[in-house]
Amino acid sequence: MAYELPPLPYDYAALEPHIDEATMKLHHDKHHQTYVTNLNGAVEKHAELGAKSPEELIKDLASIPEDVRKVVQNNGGGHVNHTMFWQIMKPHGGGEPSGNIGDQIKTDFGSFEEFKKLFNETTAKQFGAGWGWLIFEGGKLKIVTTANQDNPLSQGHYPILGNDVWEHAYYLKYQNKRPDYLAAWWNVVNWDEVNKRFETAKKK
Ligand code: MN
Repeated sequence: MAYELPPLPYDYAALEPHIDEATMKLHHDKHHQTYVTNLNGAVEKHAELGAKSPEELIKDLASIPEDVRKVVQNNGGGHVNHTMFWQIMKPHGGGEPSGNIGDQIKTDFGSFEEFKKLFNETTAKQFGAGWGWLIFEGGKLKIVTTANQDNPLSQGHYPILGNDVWEHAYYLKYQNKRPDYLAAWWNVVNWDEVNKRFETAKKK
C-alpha cells in the first residue's frame, strides 16, 4: 500500500465537548480511511504515482493520468486535508492565536474576533460539502473556501489552517447548525501547529 491512514494524535474523545467521540471515530476510521483506500486503488494502476507524496499528487493534477485524475483529486485531497485537520486540533486548544500567526491576523483582520467572524461567515456559506481555508497570498492572509476535497495546494497555495464543513464533520452533534460547529471549532485549534504551517506558507 502506497499510502496509510495516520493514527489520530489523541483519543477519539479528547476534543469533547466541542467535537464528540462518535464523530471523531467515524470521521477518522471510516471517512479518512476511505480516502486512503481509494487513493491506493488509483495509484495501483499507475505505479509511478505511488512514489509521490499525497501533497505532490494534488499539487500538479494536470500531470495525473486522466483515467485516475478525478479519483486522485478527491481522495488525495481527502487524505491531505484530513491529515492536516487532525494535526491542527488538540485537546485544550483554542484561545487567542499565539506567535507570528497571531500578529499577522491582527495586521490583516484587525483582531482575532474579526478574523473568526469573517472565517465563520465565509465558511458557513460554502454550499454543500467543502472546506474553509486560511492561505497567505501576496504577503497577506486570505480566507477562501473550496468544494468537496479540493485543497488550496492545487491552486498553488499552502493552507495554513482549514476547517471541514462536510456534514460528516458535525452532523451527529450539531445537525443542521453548521454555524454552531464553526463557532465551537476554535476551542480545539492547535495554534502551535498553525504557526508551523504559517512559517512554511511564508517560504512558498
Ligand atoms: Mn471530513
